[in-house]
Amino acid sequence: MRPRIYLDNAATTPLDPRVAELMKDVMDRCFGNPSSTHAFGREARTVVERARKSIAEWLGVAPGEIIFTSGGTEADNMALRTCVRSGDIRHIVTSPVEHHAVLHTVEELAQRDRIKLTLLPVDSEGRPDLKALEKVLQTSGERTLVSLMHANNELGTMIDLEEVGHLVHHYGACFHSDTVQTIGHYSLNLHRLPIDYACASAHKFHGPKGVGFLYLRGELAHRGPLLTGGSQERNMRAGTENVYGIAGMAKALELAMSEREHHERHVRGLKNLAIRLIKQHIPDAEFNGDISENSLYTVLNVLLPEFPDADMLLFRLDIEGLAVSGGSACSSGSLKGSHVIEALGKPAGRPAVRISFSRMNTASEVEQAVLLLKKVVHLKNQPQAL
Ligand code: PLP
Repeated sequence: MRPRIYLDNAATTPLDPRVAELMKDVMDRCFGNPSSTHAFGREARTVVERARKSIAEWLGVAPGEIIFTSGGTEADNMALRTCVRSGDIRHIVTSPVEHHAVLHTVEELAQRDRIKLTLLPVDSEGRPDLKALEKVLQTSGERTLVSLMHANNELGTMIDLEEVGHLVHHYGACFHSDTVQTIGHYSLNLHRLPIDYACASAHKFHGPKGVGFLYLRGELAHRGPLLTGGSQERNMRAGTENVYGIAGMAKALELAMSEREHHERHVRGLKNLAIRLIKQHIPDAEFNGDISENSLYTVLNVLLPEFPDADMLLFRLDIEGLAVSGGSACSSGSLKGSHVIEALGKPAGRPAVRISFSRMNTASEVEQAVLLLKKVVHLKNQPQAL
C-alpha cells in the first residue's frame, strides 16, 4: 500500500513520541487526584504545578495566570463568557473570520445577554480593518471586549498583536486573541504584549488532545468560573485536572519552543516549496489569504480552478492517500462551506483546499502532494480514472 501523506496539521498534529513517552511514565507512576492531600495526591499536584510553571516560563507569564482547560474551544469560551459576565461588557467587537469557538460564543452572548455585537470588515486576505476598529472603539461608549485571532486557521493570515492590542487598550477595551494556531509555533512573551486573554491547545503543537489552557492577565485572574462544582484551578475551572494531558502539554511546549527556530525554518521551507510547485503545476490556482513571509508558516490555502465533481475533491485525495482539508465559499443550496472563505467575498463554487504542514513532514511529501492535487484537479470528467 502507498504510504499516506498527512498535511492537515492545522486540524491536529501527530503526538511527538517524546511526549508520549513522558505521558506513559506519568500514567504508570502517578494516578493520584491532585486535590487529595495524601502522598498520591501530592505527587499528582506536583506534576500539574511543574507543568504550569514550565508553560508560564515559556510564555513569560506568572504560573497563576495559566488556567488549564480541555482545549482551545473551552479556553475561548472561558475568556469570552467570564469577561462579559464579570467585566460589565456591553459590546463585543470581532471579525467574521474567527473560529466558531469564538463566533458561536459571541453570537450566543449577543442574543442571550443582549450584548451589542460588531463584526469588523475584513480585506481580501481576511485581515480585519483596523481603521474600522478604531472608529468603533471611539464611538462605542460602552465597556467593550475585542476578540481577534492571532493567526487564521484556514487562511494563515495573521494580525500584529502589538499593534491591535495597543489600539484596543488605548480606548480602554479588553483584548482577547485566539492564539490556538500560534502558541507552540511562535515565540510569544504574553506579559510584554498588550493582551488580556490568550488560548492554547496542546494537539496543535504535537501534544495530546483534550487539553489546553487560557492565559488571563494577572488582574483579571479572579473572575468567576465557567464550570462550577469544585475549587480546582483557583475556582476558575471545576473538575479533576487532566494530569497526564497537562504533563504532556508542558513537554510538547518545551520541545516546540526549545527547537522552534529549526522547526520554523523547515516548515516555512515546505510551505514555500508547495507555493512554488502549485504555481508551476496548477497555474490557474490562486491562494486564499496571506502567503507572504508574514503569514502563519504552517498553513496554505489554495483556491483551485473549477472542475467537474469538485465537491468530491477531498474524498478523491483521500483515496489517493493525501489528507488535507477543504473549504470553499458557501454556495446557495449547499449546507457546507467555509464562513471564512465566504467572508473574503470570493465567488462561490471554486473549491479550496487547506494544506497545513508540521515539522514531521518532508519535502518529498509536499512534492507528491502537489502532483496528486494536480492529478485530481485535471481529471476533467473522468472521475473513475483514478
Ligand atoms: N481556535 C482555533 C483558531 C482553532 O484552529 C481551533 C481548532 O481547530 C480551536 C480554536 C479549537 O481548539 P480545540 O480543538 O482544542 O478545541
